[in-house]
Amino acid sequence: MIPFSPPRIDQKIIDEVVATLRSGWITTGPRTKLFEKRLAAYFQVPAVLCLNSATAGLELMLRWYGVKEGDEVILPAYTYSATANVVMHCGAKPVFVDVGQDFNIDPEEIRKAIGPRTKVIMPVDFGGWPCDYARINRLVKENSILKLFNPSTPEQQSLGRILVLSDSAHSIGAVVNGQKAGSLTDISVFSFHAVKNLTTAEGGAVALNLPPPFDNLAIYQALCVKSLHGQNKDALAKMQKGNWRYDIVEAGYKMNMTDILAAIGLVELERYDTDTLVRRKQICALYAFALKEKSWAILPLLSSADTESSYHLFALRIKGIQEEQRDRIMQKIFDQDVSVNVHFIPVPMMSFYKGLGYRISDYPVTLSLYENEISLPLFYDLTDDQVNTVIRALVNAVESEL
Ligand SMILES: *Cc1c(COP(=O)(O)O)cnc(C)c1O
Repeated sequence: MIPFSPPRIDQKIIDEVVATLRSGWITTGPRTKLFEKRLAAYFQVPAVLCLNSATAGLELMLRWYGVKEGDEVILPAYTYSATANVVMHCGAKPVFVDVGQDFNIDPEEIRKAIGPRTKVIMPVDFGGWPCDYARINRLVKENSILKLFNPSTPEQQSLGRILVLSDSAHSIGAVVNGQKAGSLTDISVFSFHAVKNLTTAEGGAVALNLPPPFDNLAIYQALCVKSLHGQNKDALAKMQKGNWRYDIVEAGYKMNMTDILAAIGLVELERYDTDTLVRRKQICALYAFALKEKSWAILPLLSSADTESSYHLFALRIKGIQEEQRDRIMQKIFDQDVSVNVHFIPVPMMSFYKGLGYRISDYPVTLSLYENEISLPLFYDLTDDQVNTVIRALVNAVESEL
């Protein structure tokens, strides 16, 4: 069976994890701090905070911005439910909008959805393709949009506008005009979950890139406290000789990354651009080359004059098919021992969100993309032979169905 997206666990990763276990320090400590510094250099942002998931990062930043009951957060209908769930945790209202043909949130739909309660926009870089941040960043600074904004916390007053909080779970390594995802807007949150391009088993990172008057380093310090019980000293600081006494300055969360996870991340990051991304791009090129002559194939957008994907997903679409046909094709692919996937079942189709009154019929582009989408296996260790097996299985399945 060809799997969909197993992690790359080689001897180098195992050695670093073992070294961490033997070091005597396994929770947040020197490796996590080093991983944060390396990520900040990689993203070219003033500060990065590592946490135990992207979900935690998104919620932490909504809380930091003071998002609460009565507020609205705009996000695409076409995303993983984590993006919406964190808005619910804060007691705010998720306002879903439709996406464009590139699977990303449509800036014109954002404009229509903005109202006096809007506090945050959460674009999602679907499959590693960055959203149009130039346009979204401009939109939130337009006079008519600024006038609608009702700040109710010091952070909201300082920014004076809607916060752009990117769900960059897929897009580490993506580039727009020479700038990496992470530095394209106010705050970007990355995921290091096991299926993501760069994994730490579970984990996430918040890239802080807020404009003046914000001091990103001071915010980083405050977020370290907020993400660890509101404790004014972390475990490492408390361990220093005689430094046992601490205080709790707020009812904080428990979201910190451990050094065991950071050890994996440090190895992954070091070889990410020079090795991981190179191979992922090659695999996508093999798929694209084999499928470009197929009249039924709609290939995903992976590069343009100014933008390059992180090649997280190869989100293929089959022209003109309905959901049931898509599911039958997927079954036929599985029957040939190849794993495929669908990204994503749109959030308004989930029972919980349907129960709140959301309807997928309000997001026609999202539905039309979802109905005929099939994600192909894409991971570092996938061999050229396996790529050919995937293509054969796919072509067999589709051409027997059409
Ligand atoms: C994976 C994913 C998340 C959640 O990441 P975790 O690190 O598992 O919390 C959020 N948004 C999207 C779009 C994702 O794919």
